[in-house]
Amino acid sequence: MRTGADRSEIEAVKQAIRDVGLEPYPVIGEERTVIAVVGSDDERARPVVAGLPGVEQVMAVSKAYKLTSREHHPDRTVVRVGNVSIGAGSPLVVMAGPCAVEGREQILATARWVKREGATILRGGAYKPRTSPYAFQGLGEEGLKLLAEAREETGLPVVSEITDPAHVGMFERYVDMLQIGARNMSNFVLLRACGQSQKPVLLKRGLSSSIEELLMAAEYILSAGNPNVVLVERGIRTFETATRNTLDLNAVPVLKDRTHLPIVVDPSHGTGHRPLVRPMAAAGVAAGADGLIIEVHPEPPRAWSDSEQSLSFPEFGDLMDDLRRFEYLRNPMVAANRPTTAPPQELERLRARIDDVDARMAALLEERAELSVAVQQTRRSDDHGHDVSRERALLERAARTEGGILTAEEREMVFSAMLRALRSAQRREAAATAAATGAPAAAGTSA
Ligand code: PEP
Ligand code: MN
Repeated sequence: MRTGADRSEIEAVKQAIRDVGLEPYPVIGEERTVIAVVGSDDERARPVVAGLPGVEQVMAVSKAYKLTSREHHPDRTVVRVGNVSIGAGSPLVVMAGPCAVEGREQILATARWVKREGATILRGGAYKPRTSPYAFQGLGEEGLKLLAEAREETGLPVVSEITDPAHVGMFERYVDMLQIGARNMSNFVLLRACGQSQKPVLLKRGLSSSIEELLMAAEYILSAGNPNVVLVERGIRTFETATRNTLDLNAVPVLKDRTHLPIVVDPSHGTGHRPLVRPMAAAGVAAGADGLIIEVHPEPPRAWSDSEQSLSFPEFGDLMDDLRRFEYLRNPMVAANRPTTAPPQELERLRARIDDVDARMAALLEERAELSVAVQQTRRSDDHGHDVSRERALLERAARTEGGILTAEEREMVFSAMLRALRSAQRREAAATAAATGAPAAAGTSA
């Protein structure tokens, strides 16, 4: 109420609140009175109350998206898609695959490749909401069948976009997760229909939707009974024309603050340009995303949709290498996923990746040497002899790793050579320190 509002004005407001079946709780202060209404987000009282004499402001204290909000659900939600967990500190999830399923060979080859590179969910559109009615609309149910076949072969759970509430039953037969596309974020009939499904939902932010509107869309699904919703930041329309959309990475920490639901970043639609996908994927994870969704195609220039933003197999491999290098993907590939034969790439790209790996190994070796020298410098000058047991343990660990291309002996050769080099560096550093301080040099330990 305004400062100085009189008793009759306060009474009139209380009565207006009671008239819509709610209970007013006046808080009377020295200067002004605040009237709280607890336990409902009923909108009816608002316009009536706002127009009464003596009223200064009508304000919502709690969030309109109750189930989606962290206010009432402080623990983060983990969404399970098949055997994969997303959110609440689960390992980063990479969903990858073509924009649209185009045929058996295309989807199977892509599924095998992205799995080999470490993706854990396969994406592919069977019903495509295209801007033009003349553009390829997707293979329909046939596309869903091919996705199910790819799951059979690779074991990857699949996600595909649903565009029609009447399709929920059919989708449930073929896919593990229902995707609601940006163009359908405000299709409330579709949101409700997916809310009644047992399948988890991947909800994309609308092209021109605010974060609040995205959360309200999620609220439709949760309030219909489905708690398993994953939100996607996929870029919004701005005045910028250099990119297809503007990937709003602000949304990631904002959403983390407001909701307990997991958040996935889509740098493919978010940028619309192949070279931008890799850096923005890393940026999305750095901002706190629980997962990424990436478009990958065996031959991007020939893709029937979103050709400009789809990554080739080697480009997707490079992106996954980045995620490993930044330690965003902590789980090393399981042996079964590793390629057993040289992947069919052109020589130049293979060599580029070799150079990349070599450069990283050189940098890691340098880091390892710095650590060894630092460990040695913590030793007292009369403490001779290095820690043989740690070195032996390291060699044993290296030899025990199974299922790779290198044999135990070959790996031991590499690590023994490394230990010899590190001991040599330690000795030299110790001698230099001793020469500088006049103290006797300590023999170091590399481990
Ligand atoms: C898609 O994932 O291929 C797609 C159509 O995405 P969006 O709904 O974000 O445009
Ligand atoms: Mn697409």
